[in-house]
Amino acid sequence: MRAGAAIPTSVVTGQVWPALPHSAAQTMLAAQFQLERSQWWPAELLAQRQLEQLRSLVAFALQQVPHYRKLIAALLPEVAREPRALTWESFARWPILKKSDLRDHAAALVAPALPPDHGGMSWNFTSGSTGTPARCAVTMVAHFFRSALALRHQFWHDLDFSLKYAEIRPGVPAGRSPGWGAVPNVAYETGPGVTLPVSTALEAQLDWLLAEAPGYLLSTASNLRALVLHSRETGRIPQGLDAVLSYAENLPADLRALVQEVWHTRLIDAYSCTETGIVALQCPRHAHYHAQAETVIVEVLHDDGRPCAAGEVGRLVLTDLTNFGMPLIRYEIGDYAEAGVPCDCGRGLPVLKRILGRRRNMATDPTGRVFWPVFPSRELHDLAPLGQLQLVQHAPAAIELRYVMARELSAQESTRISAAFAETLRYHFEFSFSRVATIERQPGQKYEEFISLCLPAEP
Ligand SMILES: [Zn+2]
Repeated sequence: MRAGAAIPTSVVTGQVWPALPHSAAQTMLAAQFQLERSQWWPAELLAQRQLEQLRSLVAFALQQVPHYRKLIAALLPEVAREPRALTWESFARWPILKKSDLRDHAAALVAPALPPDHGGMSWNFTSGSTGTPARCAVTMVAHFFRSALALRHQFWHDLDFSLKYAEIRPGVPAGRSPGWGAVPNVAYETGPGVTLPVSTALEAQLDWLLAEAPGYLLSTASNLRALVLHSRETGRIPQGLDAVLSYAENLPADLRALVQEVWHTRLIDAYSCTETGIVALQCPRHAHYHAQAETVIVEVLHDDGRPCAAGEVGRLVLTDLTNFGMPLIRYEIGDYAEAGVPCDCGRGLPVLKRILGRRRNMATDPTGRVFWPVFPSRELHDLAPLGQLQLVQHAPAAIELRYVMARELSAQESTRISAAFAETLRYHFEFSFSRVATIERQPGQKYEEFISLCLPAEP
């Protein structure tokens, strides 16, 4: 049953439709009812409602959270005196919270007296791809909204709840369950769910995928890319996929086209992080993303703090409006994004055109230009049967290309690949090539297509 036509599970004898759901489902559907409406609000109305919720969060944080109480009294005394008078102008002067703050001052960011109706807290640990992992306290209310957005995502892309849902990801055992899990099962009956750890060898993943033949496959972008390439190489193609869902990593530029070409299905991406949950979901009509303005304030900022205009790339700064347990206000997540123009789908939710990696995923060249590297994905596929690859920039003029392939690249292939990159990177770098068994990454870390070891210091 497609999400749009699905009927919630009814708990009243004989009353199938319209359904009368149980209380947990009622709460979830009440949230969906509001989200369904607010997504169409004009940007101004969304901003106004955000500001009301932000004032409520700030008033609580200034009263309860030591970190903010001390900092804001010194830096924004007018807000410290009267939090309910907070404006967007004063919010723009609110200090940015860094990852290092989260690591070093976690205890000072936690509210010691959480209102009991926020439902207690649990601890999430970040992956620590740029150093030591940090931990964040998340309330049940914040968890609830994260689930509500996950269900919105399934509605937006009209998933068929009756199909089988497969997940290959970190932190799950090899297993099966009668339903898809907490979302959307709180309100709807679904087909079965199956899980496999992402550490499973590719060949075994593909065996499993072909045997299970799910309607949906959720995995990290890098694992999906490796799996699709392996599937293409071996000619073993899964059947019956209505969509492939990626999450948790920046989407490789060629993955959407690869999934379409090899598996003949659509790829749906979402951008989320451990700290604030779902930040942006792919628009139902386009490849770009809508910021989830109902629960998170998403800012895209230049290095000097000015907001980016459409088409400009800047640092992502997030404010989680729902998590009172450990309020993250103007938290710099470490990723970059390109601000977008309003979407023609009619949703007032702000647009992120692209979500990019971290600063160390940017390239430079001997002229001092710092830029986001573009891969010649189409040409690469035609030039050599490459598996995973990664570019490591050791010096402004020198890039090492690490690749996984059944054999060494020939001299001719190497020359052509260098030339293809010279085109998209707009500079003739000296390329060196290293064939590797696998692209190394630490457990829990995100896969990176491009790593710079020689970027100029951040301005
Ligand atoms: Zn849209």
